[in-house]
Amino acid sequence: MPKERRCPECGGIVRPGQTELVYELEDIKITVKNIAASVCEQCGRSFISGRVAGEVNRLVNRVMEDINSFIKTGAAVVGTHREVAIAV
Ligand SMILES: [Zn+2]
Repeated sequence: MPKERRCPECGGIVRPGQTELVYELEDIKITVKNIAASVCEQCGRSFISGRVAGEVNRLVNRVMEDINSFIKTGAAVVGTHREVAIAV
């Protein structure tokens, strides 16, 4: 068993869980779901390890490149606010 971790915000117990991150870039909103995280059971704050954060960033960058090349074709314009949800 790993050592019990405490939330630096409220001192509550932090347990393994999942969170989601929302990236808003220009008019595109990307939601990344099911990210492995530590979640404080008291205040609900979630903490992501540096390694996971790096992977999510890489994923978002990749998706942004794909979206941008897709938009250049003029095919993907549906409204002014696009939302992309990614389940990891
Ligand atoms: Zn907390």
